[in-house]
Amino acid sequence: MLFAPLLPWFARARRDLPWREPRRDPYRVWLSEVMLQQTRVEVVVPYYRRFLERFPTLEALAAAREDEVLALWSGLGYYARGRNLHRAARAAASGGLPHSAAKLRELPGFGAYTAAAVASLAFGEQVPLVDGNVARVLARVLRLPGDAAQVRARAWRVAPQLLPEGRAGEFNEALMELGATVCTPRGPRCGSCPLEAGCGARREGDPSAFPAGATKKQRPVLVWAAPALLRADGAVLLRRRGDGELFAGMWGLPSQPVSADGVAAAARRALAASGVPATARLEACGEVRQTLTHRELHVMLFRGRARTRNPPAGLRWASPADFPELALSSLALKCLRAVGVAVPVDTAPNHR
Ligand code: SF4
Repeated sequence: MLFAPLLPWFARARRDLPWREPRRDPYRVWLSEVMLQQTRVEVVVPYYRRFLERFPTLEALAAAREDEVLALWSGLGYYARGRNLHRAARAAASGGLPHSAAKLRELPGFGAYTAAAVASLAFGEQVPLVDGNVARVLARVLRLPGDAAQVRARAWRVAPQLLPEGRAGEFNEALMELGATVCTPRGPRCGSCPLEAGCGARREGDPSAFPAGATKKQRPVLVWAAPALLRADGAVLLRRRGDGELFAGMWGLPSQPVSADGVAAAARRALAASGVPATARLEACGEVRQTLTHRELHVMLFRGRARTRNPPAGLRWASPADFPELALSSLALKCLRAVGVAVPVDTAPNHR
């Protein structure tokens, strides 16, 4: 009964978002859920619209080249999501997405959350889900003890008992909406909350104490050296990052980790490792920093004139006019701007 006011509240207060159509298309539900992971709604909306315009169906996505998919993902971050989405579309194209969370989990990129989201929201399966928002709401209402990871595990255990019969999808979405709009991490708006009357944390006067703050771990710092070879016509030499590398499948400057031999040596190694012959002087030209989920990346940049006409496999010359069609991460765009490449202003906005 604690959660009984949730669905009527959701019916009144739900935001009008493009993926919330009256008839839930499983492909669209899936796409939105993948894009929304670790990413704010206002960032996702234009990406979602552009992606659907280009790949309106599961079959269209399955038939696309990975490069095209990643190019549309450029700037959204967490690029493994885009690659897995594409792989899963290929795996599911012939028979469509499976209807159960258990079967969905057999597809690339479907963790417990995404599988439960698609199964409950699109197919009506009676399964719960827990993301950061849901974990926080349940932690507060039920006063679940522990840090964020422990609360999440506890939330997965209690969530099945809370689902109203036949309305799991709506209930899951309503809990996420409440966490995103009312029961926010800082400054929850308890006075506007439909669960206020039964909320344990509100009663005790300490909502912000749930979940208990985890000790912030220092992110390890990776230092890369990245040389930009430039042609007189403004083109720059780019390398497509391979499987198993950070930003796999994306284009960017060649790079190598800096080690004991120093930054300039690492920049030369980056060219040698890509099969580019030793080039003229490389001039140091600044540093770009990027915070990733589990680490901090510092890229030491160099610039030099190109001496290679035909790049080896895995590399290409790209002019700024080519950038909108290329899978370029926000980090790659920042680096290109920093070395003086004229990146068009509307190329994949920097979100992270
Ligand atoms: S009453 Fe406050 S703490 Fe409790 S669920 Fe609502 S917003 Fe969150």
